[in-house]
Amino acid sequence: MANMSITKVPMPEQEPNVRNHNFKEVATGYTAEMAVEEAARCLQCKNRPCTNGCPVNVPIPDFIAKIAQNDFEGAYDVITSENALPAICGRVCPQENQCEGQCVRGRKGEPVGIGRLERFAADYHMANAESKPVRIEKNGKKVAVVGSGPAGITCAGELIKKGYDVTVFEALHQAGGVLSYGIPEFRLPKALVAKEIETIAKLGVDIRTNVVVGRSVTVDELMADGYDAVFIGSGAGLPRFLNIPGENLLGVYSANEFLTRVNLMKAYRFPETPTPVKIGKNVAVVGAGNVAMDAARTAKRLGAENVYIVYRRSEEELPARAEEVHHAKEEGIIFRLLNNPAAILGNEDGWVCGIEVVKQQLGEPDESGRRSPVPIEGSNYRMDVDTVIIAIGQSPNPLIRQTTPGLDTQRWGGIIVEEETMATSKEGVYAGGDTVTGAATVILAMGAGKKAAAAIDAKLSAGE
Ligand code: FAD
Ligand code: SF4
Ligand code: SF4
Repeated sequence: MANMSITKVPMPEQEPNVRNHNFKEVATGYTAEMAVEEAARCLQCKNRPCTNGCPVNVPIPDFIAKIAQNDFEGAYDVITSENALPAICGRVCPQENQCEGQCVRGRKGEPVGIGRLERFAADYHMANAESKPVRIEKNGKKVAVVGSGPAGITCAGELIKKGYDVTVFEALHQAGGVLSYGIPEFRLPKALVAKEIETIAKLGVDIRTNVVVGRSVTVDELMADGYDAVFIGSGAGLPRFLNIPGENLLGVYSANEFLTRVNLMKAYRFPETPTPVKIGKNVAVVGAGNVAMDAARTAKRLGAENVYIVYRRSEEELPARAEEVHHAKEEGIIFRLLNNPAAILGNEDGWVCGIEVVKQQLGEPDESGRRSPVPIEGSNYRMDVDTVIIAIGQSPNPLIRQTTPGLDTQRWGGIIVEEETMATSKEGVYAGGDTVTGAATVILAMGAGKKAAAAIDAKLSAGE
């Protein structure tokens, strides 16, 4: 019988004042009993609105039915028929705008906790199952993938299963893209990312790290080297800056640099081991998207006493997920809304010692549809901070477009593709993920990688 509770089975979480001093996962996951109870909330709708809301079409009612029958491995098999990274998506997908946003149970109460159940099935599999050897018939064709983020890894995983030889070229020393070096440990444990990537590597994908395409080798050289197609999934890793005085002072980070240092230098082992990333007592994070929330919550965990989100619009326009804002507030992050930095102030040693802030009020909507901030004359004041983290967005790194003649891009740098196939203007070259859309989501990047793999396979198996 269906469980008609209007709320989800609650997810156990660490207490805010405990978790803001450690890097362990905030949400600790369902037990088997909780998962079965939550699965019983699903009404098994025939028209599957939830699956229509998932960019990779996970057969949601089918996997939930398996959980309700205590067949957790069966649930995992159903999910992975469409989604190669379920432990990751179950944790970081913005489900409220996707699968759960379409769930009929959400009309009167909370939707089914699809993400929580997906996470449960994936974690159960990792903890209990032996990986099964898979026999794949090779087809003699080879594909190069640039970048090992969710777009590249998904494309590689799909193609290897179809018999292609796939080589992934990754600029950094570690695979995973933003999953490894951006999203913090307390939201996405790095051991888990490594394990999901290992699953794909075990299928035979050759992941070559420390290869910067555009420097070590170009896209044209890869094609000349016998690759039948190239997929570019190089992300949007170039941080934007405010262009105000003082941005070159010591103690100013881009959120990108800050989070990459914390992840790749394993500063998240703090406080067990000292942090190699310097953080002050008073930290201002400029911006209010998900990356800003991650940077602020990370700074707090590294020992900062006061961490401020400085954002030029109001709560209503705040772009971060509601859940992230809620967690940040619980952990003691201070929100200075309708405040915009005009300058970063430095001391005689060249270190940050404050920011000059101008208060704002909301005016007419701009082209994004959000009311635009208008400075209040004479409202300037000084905030005493010793670290500033700038989190106002990223765009694609120009290296690949500068070294790939014939590759058409938007003015802001995004690679232009055909929507149905992800084919670029250059024969045999495909692209997807943040390098096409600008900063977006893991699941959209995965969806693009999957679409490109299908198009590459269709073209190459037709002998074109
Ligand atoms: P990326 O993940 O950026 O991977 C690109 C890879 O290409 C990188 O490994 C890079 O090193 C490599 N590369 C770049 N240039 C080259 C080159 N020339 N040669 C070889 N390799 C190259 N999304 C969510 O859905 N949920 C979240 O909670 C969430 N939180 C986020 C938090 C942070 C801090 C950040 C930064 C992003 C977050 N996102 C989140 C967004 C999400 O991570 C991205 O949309 C997604 O990772 C894009 O995937 P991608 O494969 O296109 O690119
Ligand atoms: Fe929902 Fe993401 Fe899972 Fe799709 S992959 S079902 S959008 S959590
Ligand atoms: Fe279950 Fe909700 Fe999907 Fe209906 S829409 S099948 S209730 S998850």
